[in-house]
Amino acid sequence: MRKNKTTKNFTNFKMNNDVYALRCKVMSVIYAVKKSGMNIPRIDVRIGEDKNCHVLGKGRLNDNIIWITPKAINRSEDYLYHTVLHELVHTIFGKGHSRTCHLMSAYQPQVVFSKDKLIKLFRRYYDLWINKQTKQLEVAWNIE
Ligand SMILES: [Zn+2]
Repeated sequence: MRKNKTTKNFTNFKMNNDVYALRCKVMSVIYAVKKSGMNIPRIDVRIGEDKNCHVLGKGRLNDNIIWITPKAINRSEDYLYHTVLHELVHTIFGKGHSRTCHLMSAYQPQVVFSKDKLIKLFRRYYDLWINKQTKQLEVAWNIE
């Protein structure tokens, strides 16, 4: 089945040079995650605008697709990391919001952590995800 590349209340921009440049900035966060040794799946990245102007990005749970707004990209590098890593936790690991986590709070904090700190928070979710996969593998082996 083809993946649905649209999400409610969000208009995907048509690709042009400006949109491509914005998308590259989002991709640079994904490359930074991979470069730091985390083996994450291929992610669909869409750039566009949400009906609700407070929305910075969206990610569909467990579907490896994220939508990011220019507002999230243009504010600062740390804010970009916060938004993209937040949506990646939703879409790769299937995790919802957490009141106690700086990265996964439902609201973007007034002041976000540095990108290095944010990558460290992201790695916690990654490690849990990897551990879960390893456990499933062990269960599969036990059955054999
Ligand atoms: Zn969220």
